[in-house]
Amino acid sequence: MIFDLHSHTHFSDGRLSPADLFARARERKVGVLAVTDHDTIAGLAFAQEAAHKEGVALVPGVEFSAAWGKVNVHVLGLCIDPGSDHLQTSVKSQEEARSRRSLAIAERLEKVGVADALEGARAFAGDAIVGRPHFAQFLVAQGKVKNINAAFKKYLGTGKSADVKYEWPDMDEAIRWIHAGGGLAVLAHPAKYELTRTKMCRLIGDFAAQGGDAVEVINGRQENRLTEDLARITQGLGLYASCGSDFHFPDQPWQELGQFGCLPNGVTPIWAAPEFAQYLPSPAAAGVHA
Ligand code: MN
Ligand code: MN
Ligand code: MN
Repeated sequence: MIFDLHSHTHFSDGRLSPADLFARARERKVGVLAVTDHDTIAGLAFAQEAAHKEGVALVPGVEFSAAWGKVNVHVLGLCIDPGSDHLQTSVKSQEEARSRRSLAIAERLEKVGVADALEGARAFAGDAIVGRPHFAQFLVAQGKVKNINAAFKKYLGTGKSADVKYEWPDMDEAIRWIHAGGGLAVLAHPAKYELTRTKMCRLIGDFAAQGGDAVEVINGRQENRLTEDLARITQGLGLYASCGSDFHFPDQPWQELGQFGCLPNGVTPIWAAPEFAQYLPSPAAAGVHA
């Protein structure tokens, strides 16, 4: 049974609908799939429907952006209750942080002669929350720049005229939000924050001290050495280990649904946590005969 506990749909920066995501999951023999869109749970109801249709178990999830000092980190919430008032409040607060930023980006663009950028970007966002990629698409469509890269280089990138920083909650707050929503908090891809190993260990240590439950030991295709290192750290802190592809869209072989290594022996997989029990397929449904 393949557990893929990190994926995105077009409700955030993924490109597939929940229906297409789950069809792909079934083709790739994923038995349990967590949908973890960035700072939104808007896709989960559709995911539930698709999961049922394809016979793949859904773990309801979210990927919160948060701040660890000056470092922008991601905290996954798994087994969250999408109906929880607490969770809806925290998602709303994240959406507001994104909206405030989009508004500020549009204001900056206005000042450098790009009118109506917020509306323009919204047309590209579809079901997703407006973000920089949509502003970039709008700038290209307006003929202000030749391509997406140029949009970042000229307007949206670090230090450029429409560069606006996010104000995310502190990591401990994101952990509290997830717990209040009935879920387990997982530190996503600890090796992807461009930290030294010492600092990465400090991040994971802080995450554990703040009540975090698990570390994403495997995020897509990665080197065995990294997997083993993260597994040791995770085990040493008594945390659960999680794994997922971080799938966003097809044609990215390093982030393909269900395509990643196995969790090393010795770690406790997060699906052993009691919170998971209600989301796991029954042995009969999974085709396993006891
Ligand atoms: Mn993403
Ligand atoms: Mn992430
Ligand atoms: Mn992700």
